[in-house]
Amino acid sequence: MITNFFAGRFGRASALAIALLTVAVILVVDLCFSPRRVPIRILYAIPIMLAARFVGLREATLVTLVAIAFSLLDGWLTGIDIQTEILATVALGVVGVLSLLWARAERRAAALAEERAGLHQQARQRAAESEDARERLLHFFALVAHDLRNPLTAISGYTQMLSRWDSLPPETRERVVKGIQLSLRQLTRLSNDLLDASRIGASRFEIQRYRCDLVALCREIVGQRRTTTSVHRLVMETQLDRLEGCFDCDRIAQAVGNLIDNAIKYSPAGGEVKVRLERVGDRARIEVSDQGIGIAPEDIDKLFQPYSRLHRGPEIRGMGLGLYIVRAIVEAHEGTITVQSQLGKGSTFTIDLPVRTQPAAPEA
Ligand code: ADP
Repeated sequence: MITNFFAGRFGRASALAIALLTVAVILVVDLCFSPRRVPIRILYAIPIMLAARFVGLREATLVTLVAIAFSLLDGWLTGIDIQTEILATVALGVVGVLSLLWARAERRAAALAEERAGLHQQARQRAAESEDARERLLHFFALVAHDLRNPLTAISGYTQMLSRWDSLPPETRERVVKGIQLSLRQLTRLSNDLLDASRIGASRFEIQRYRCDLVALCREIVGQRRTTTSVHRLVMETQLDRLEGCFDCDRIAQAVGNLIDNAIKYSPAGGEVKVRLERVGDRARIEVSDQGIGIAPEDIDKLFQPYSRLHRGPEIRGMGLGLYIVRAIVEAHEGTITVQSQLGKGSTFTIDLPVRTQPAAPEA
């Protein structure tokens, strides 16, 4: 117990020192006080057993050898007869070997138990993960079915109106054409997202770099998205006139557009959506921030997983693929994406991209 206390508090070195000190104390006690000499030598077994139990096997072997040496010295100093001497030494040796074997077996059993507990924990975690993935997939299928049905139903309604096209007033015709166009855009986006997700899942997602200006690109996307909302103020902020580099600009536009769409979608009460662009050394930084509902800290890790929807209410629609694709686009550019968010206050998504001047990566 004392050795254990010291092993825990001061480490193995102190525990070893205590065990060796005990051996020395036994020698002194035997020489000074023991009236019958022989029985007290059994005490040499105590530090051996303590060392085997509480310090490493190598140190315990050392303590065993020292205890045997002290026991022999004890016998020599006190003039014990040779038979008793041999008996005591053999007994100590046996105690030492048994203690070491016992300690070794105990340590192995402890290691095995720990390994088993670890495997058990891993298995439980995997089962929970696969259950979670299964649930998300089922939810995702339901969302895809729903997102397919909406535009299809709309198109089917509009096509019925085509049979009496000539009798329709011009404004209704315009509404029908716009409605069909919108539904087709929704279907195209849906099929593109599914295709992208399947390519990312199969590690076949690729980008095509060409030269473009990120300032013009961001301005254009912000301008486009302004037409989609009347309750948000979309702001573009940059000190730069141009930021040229080789990117897959369609894909960057898709990523930034997606972040702006989310910023709008997840700030239903309106507010400011800001896109900031700056150059930091040889990197471009694009920030998209909103004043929306925000994300709980424990949900941040799940954001970029496929089919991951944190807001499952029917009022905000989505398939949970957007950020998964955004991250793939950013990572294909060897960049990073990070999030800072506060529930009820808003979120900021930051894309950090290395600016390459050549379409191909420089030779290492
Ligand atoms: P979707 O919007 O289609 O559900 P995303 O992959 O774009 O899928 O987003 C995943 C989840 O991350 C969303 O369901 C939403 O809960 C959360 N999220 C994304 N952007 C924001 C944001 N700007 N503010 C709050 N939550 C967000």
